[in-house]
Parts: sequence; C-alpha cells; structure tokens
Amino acid sequence: KKILITGGTGFIGRALIKELLSRGDEVIVFSRDVARAQRALPGTRAVAWDPDQAGPWFEAIDGVDSLVHLAGEPIAKRWNEAARRDIIRSRVETTRLLGDAIARAKKKPTSFICASAIGYYGPQPPEKVFDEDAPAGEGFLADVVVRWEEAAQVLAAQQGVRSVQLRIGIVVGEGGGALEKMITPFRLFAGGPIGDGRQMISWIHVDDVVGLTLLAMENESVQGPFNVVAPNPVNGEELAKAIGQVLGRPSWLRVPEAVVRLGLGDAAEIITTGQNVHPKRALELGYKFHYTDVVTALESTLR
Ligand code: NDP
Repeated sequence: KKILITGGTGFIGRALIKELLSRGDEVIVFSRDVARAQRALPGTRAVAWDPDQAGPWFEAIDGVDSLVHLAGEPIAKRWNEAARRDIIRSRVETTRLLGDAIARAKKKPTSFICASAIGYYGPQPPEKVFDEDAPAGEGFLADVVVRWEEAAQVLAAQQGVRSVQLRIGIVVGEGGGALEKMITPFRLFAGGPIGDGRQMISWIHVDDVVGLTLLAMENESVQGPFNVVAPNPVNGEELAKAIGQVLGRPSWLRVPEAVVRLGLGDAAEIITTGQNVHPKRALELGYKFHYTDVVTALESTLR
C-alpha cells in the first residue's frame, strides 16, 4: 500500500512509519523541512509542503491509498494569542487544504485518518466515563479538537472519503508525548501525586497508537471518532506511584503544578486535570492491546 503521512517526522509518525516500512508499505512524508525529514526517515519519500497554502505538493496525494494527518503545532507551550492561532491553524486549515488537494486527485485515497485528542471531552470528574458517543467538553483544547474533527468530517463528506478521527490519549513511549515531558520534573522531585491525584489519566502506549491507526486504516467499518486509549486508565496518584516504581524513586512528595508547567506550559492541564476515556469501538472490534497495564507500559520506555 501507498501511505502518505503529514507530520511523519513527529513522535507518533516515526513509530507508525517504522511499522509500515517493516510491512513493506510505501511511505510518503509531508514535512516543512524535507532534508531533515529525509535524513530522519530513511526508506520513505519526503515531500516538501507548505501547510499554509496550495502548491506542487498537491500532486503527491494523487494515487495514495491512505492519508494520515498527524501534523500540528506542538501544544506544550504558553498559549498566548499567537500560539493559539498556530495550534488551531496547523490542524484545522491544513485539514481543509488536504481536502482541496484530494478534490484535485484523479485517484483519491480510500481513507483519511486524522489525529485528534481526548481533549475533545474536556476536563472531567473521574467518575464520568466517556466513550465515542459522549458530547464535547469545554475549554481551549476541546474547541481546537471540535474544529479539527469538523474539518475532517467535512472533508470526508465532500470528497467521499472514509474518515476516522483518532482521539489519542496521553501517549506513553520513548521520545515524545506529554508523559515524557513530565518525567524530568518527576525525576528531579522524586515524584508524587500530580494535581490532586484524583484526575483520570487515559494513557496509551505508542505501540497501540500504531496498532489502532493501522486498524482504522484497514477496517472499513471504522468511521468517525475513535478513542485511542488503553482500557485501564489510572488516576494521578496511581500514575505517580507507577512512575516512582519504574524509576526506582519514592513517591510521596507532591509534584507542584508549577513544575509540571515547566515542561508542558499551559498544556499541563492535560495531566493536572483529566478525563476517564473508554476505548469502546476498539474493544468492540476485538482489538488486542499490547499494553493494558500502566507499569508494564512505563517499563518498556523508562528503563
Ligand atoms: P509531534 O509534535 O511529535 O509531531 C508533529 C509533526 O507536525 C512535527 O514533526 C512537524 O513535522 C509537524 N508540525 C509541527 N508544527 C507544525 C506546524 N505549525 N504546521 C505544520 N506542521 C507542523 O506530534 P505527535 O507525533 O506527538 O502527535 C501527532 C498528532 O497527534 C498531533 O497533532 C498531536 O496534537 C496529536 N496528539 C498527540 C498526543 C501525544 O501524546 N503525543 C496526544 C493526543 C493527540 P515537520 O517539522 O517535519 O513539518
């Protein structure tokens, strides 16, 4: 198969590409820096794109089997006005632009797999469980995700392409994600509850992000929002204990929110608040998770 990935140089993209190449798929990557992408991702074909406007890159979409849209301005920063604009534009406007490109393709992709996030549900109390049918929550991240998913759904409807919105949780894995950024303060402070410890962290191992993305790509019955989280979320206190256990650190000191913000900026809210998300569709489809236990998942990356 011929798969095109935007933002393929990122944390999730790199893991996905490794798997696709090992299966013998042909991978094209859209990057803003094609030389860097080509160096970082041997075995793929990097294509320069300008995520703000149409260009020769439109042509690379013609004939691909699946388009996976992972590009997006990082959220781990202070959300001033310029940052908010970049965070939204790099996701929503790029999705619209990809729709324009698909419209011009002679052979359209059969699926458009778009990253999204559990931020859709907004910060929520631990006892409320959210599956794919739950309504959107409130706040900046929820607004971003709602607009991003809408753009993906419009693209699907206008272009007649099956679209899946991957509502990705807090990814555990080497080399990126919110959790990685949280580990440094944790190492320094010997760890402890983060936030009030009751908030639910709906985590997922990066291998399962890859597994569920492939499932979304291949299984034609998957359509619309798709929760990409492990079946066993933990609360902040359990997560702190698990990290402490894996790092061999005691975990009784509370990690001050200010310290979490050092690594994550305003995105700290994704771990100081949280939401209890259930992978209903994935389980209905019989997906077998590689990692269902947070300690084992952390061990695979932190050791
Ligand atoms: P990364 O930040 O690691 O990578 C995203 C890629 O997007 C970068 O490698 C970069 O590629 C490209 N990019 C960055 N800024 C811009 C911009 N302003 N305009 C266009 N492209 C840009 O992200 P992840 O791999 O961690 O995540 C992929 C997607 O999944 C993101 O949209 C993210 O919001 C979402 N997600 C991730 C989660 C996580 O825990 N990791 C959780 C939930 C959702 P290049 O420099 O080559 O152009």
